[in-house]
Amino acid sequence: MIVPSKARVGERSFMSKFVMAAAVALIVTAGAVRADEPAGLKYGAWGFDLSSRDLNTRPGDDFFQYANGAWLDRRSIPADKTAISLRLYESDLAESRLHAMMEAAAKTAGHEPATLEGKVGAFYKSFMDEGRIEALGAKPIAPELDAIRAATTREQLGALMGRQVKDFIGGAFGVGLNVDTKDTGHYVVYVGQSGLGLPDRDDYLRAAFAEKKAAYQAYVEKLLTLLDWPDPKGRAAAILALETKIAEASWSRVEQRDPNASYAPYSLPQLEAAAPEFPWRAFLRSADLGEPVKIVVGQKTAVPKIAAIYAATPVDVLQAWLAFSAADRAAPNLSKPFDDAHFAFRRRTLTGQDQEEVRWKRGVHAVSGGDYLAGDYYDRFGNLGWAVGQLYTARYFPPAAKAKVQALVADLKSAYAARIRDVDWMSAPTKAEALKKLAAYTVKVGYPDAPRDYSKVVIRDDDLIGNVRRAAEADWAFRVARRNGPVDRGDWLMTPQTNDAYSGAMLDLVFPAVILQPPIFDPAADAAVNYGAVGGVIGHEMTHGFDDQGRKFDSQGRLRDWWGPADAKAFEARAKVLGDQFSTYEPLPGARVNGKLTMGENIADLGGLTLALDAYHASLHGRPAPVIDGLTGDQRVFLGWAQVWSGKARDEAIRRQVASNPHAPSQYRVNGPVRNLDAWYAAFGVKPSDKLYVAPDRRVRIW
Ligand SMILES: [Zn+2]
Repeated sequence: MIVPSKARVGERSFMSKFVMAAAVALIVTAGAVRADEPAGLKYGAWGFDLSSRDLNTRPGDDFFQYANGAWLDRRSIPADKTAISLRLYESDLAESRLHAMMEAAAKTAGHEPATLEGKVGAFYKSFMDEGRIEALGAKPIAPELDAIRAATTREQLGALMGRQVKDFIGGAFGVGLNVDTKDTGHYVVYVGQSGLGLPDRDDYLRAAFAEKKAAYQAYVEKLLTLLDWPDPKGRAAAILALETKIAEASWSRVEQRDPNASYAPYSLPQLEAAAPEFPWRAFLRSADLGEPVKIVVGQKTAVPKIAAIYAATPVDVLQAWLAFSAADRAAPNLSKPFDDAHFAFRRRTLTGQDQEEVRWKRGVHAVSGGDYLAGDYYDRFGNLGWAVGQLYTARYFPPAAKAKVQALVADLKSAYAARIRDVDWMSAPTKAEALKKLAAYTVKVGYPDAPRDYSKVVIRDDDLIGNVRRAAEADWAFRVARRNGPVDRGDWLMTPQTNDAYSGAMLDLVFPAVILQPPIFDPAADAAVNYGAVGGVIGHEMTHGFDDQGRKFDSQGRLRDWWGPADAKAFEARAKVLGDQFSTYEPLPGARVNGKLTMGENIADLGGLTLALDAYHASLHGRPAPVIDGLTGDQRVFLGWAQVWSGKARDEAIRRQVASNPHAPSQYRVNGPVRNLDAWYAAFGVKPSDKLYVAPDRRVRIW
């Protein structure tokens, strides 16, 4: 996703471990693949599956359907999934490789192994040992529950909330450690709103979500009952009332997209003065942060309100709230009653997924993290993700692929530099800084250069919850240990086995190994398809640095306004037209795309595809593009892009996506950008009578 989201503290909902790292990702839709599908998909001799086209649909009426319709018609969404897509099929391939790797490692792992492979195997084994997990019930989270029972003051409970970084207890506030967006040579402590168990504040406030809110209350009651907590019914009602108050005080997702508004620096005494009702010192101390000199607050006006709500809430309600949070977050790793309740609410009710995935798949994600399939991969704390990535890339990511992608990135960079020089709406000084910023971008492909050290992390083959907790502790200790040193420029926020990409605060473009396979990238594919697909994706991430949020960061990655006022105005006017276009899209009755929420991603898609075309043209060096299977070069670039987004989702997942996801549903990621590009009209002979037609003077031209 985007640089500025890092400044957005506490965006992840309650009881989800608070993570700062929400660098803007390329794709997030839930779902995955059917086990009975053929493993290999046919992308044709040159990288595009011609049989996937729906030739009864005119490209100008619905380009997404034209390119992918027949493939989508041939497939249905399996019961244990909320979506299917080509991307998710590729995730499946990675998943099955990880599965084979972990099964083999588990066979030879001892009780408490010392090697990387052994630790991965023992962790996986501990997840697969269902008999033991059943026998233990809620016992594995006894340390959390005992601590909550023993905490009888708000001071003590606030201190427990600081443990969210290393155990299962949630918190009214999120806390994180990351690069300071206004001083990018240093790390800083971020604090922000949190405390919501439903995915979004609006879920508590809109009448349309009333049913889900009721289901959530029943879920809270169910978990408290399973814990034998006193008065589960009464406490569940009180917890819902508490979270509703917090929701009213919280910023919306759109409000949180403003990186300047989301950056309020305080000293510890200043924070205490601003929000005196919360025990900040105890909270930060238990997060191992001592007494930080500087704390950046994400939602300046919400945090004091939430602190006041905290102080007005009875201690026994706060205790029940934290007990529920621990059970909720540990549930997938606990016995069946917890796991089933968690699935029924968090998956079936919230996403429409009918059946739970088979155990081994969940085991793979428990060890590997990177659970993009659930759309919640930043929440998967306490895993051996970097160890898994190291083992995976050693086996499956050839250096030749790395070199090829690096060359493509260089092409896209040149194309972008030319665009910046040529645009008519940007002044010379702003262009100069923009070019400086573009040149400053570094590219990370495949996997990090420095492996993470897991030698001190104790993993046991019979202690799943302990493994999660110790892995989380080690990860947090790693962050705390480096906080006073120079910023680690080689850092990655996504593991190599994550099927995604991002543009980060350190002006880095990061492409994990797993995303670099078809339909995104195929070393054997026709150049036009690769430019349209991986080129578009690279361009997407690159333009994030200059979108409505990214443009607020300068050539050193600092949050600083470097745009001339007229430049900013011209940019915003163009962006607004794009936002207005997207706000008219309605995938389901009453479920409209939010043009503001999806603005950054839509600008990036339009920019990415623009740059991909330019880079493809430049790569021809004046020669005519070859025609393959009757398709011109430009047609194949557009088809390559369309194929990346081939997929469909359940209604529930689509409704959830338009309400809270910064990415528009797939069909608009194809139809939305193409209708603004003159080259698309020429390539497919699109006419004014076609449904997607936009008059030339109404097409959005940003880059
Ligand atoms: Zn993005």
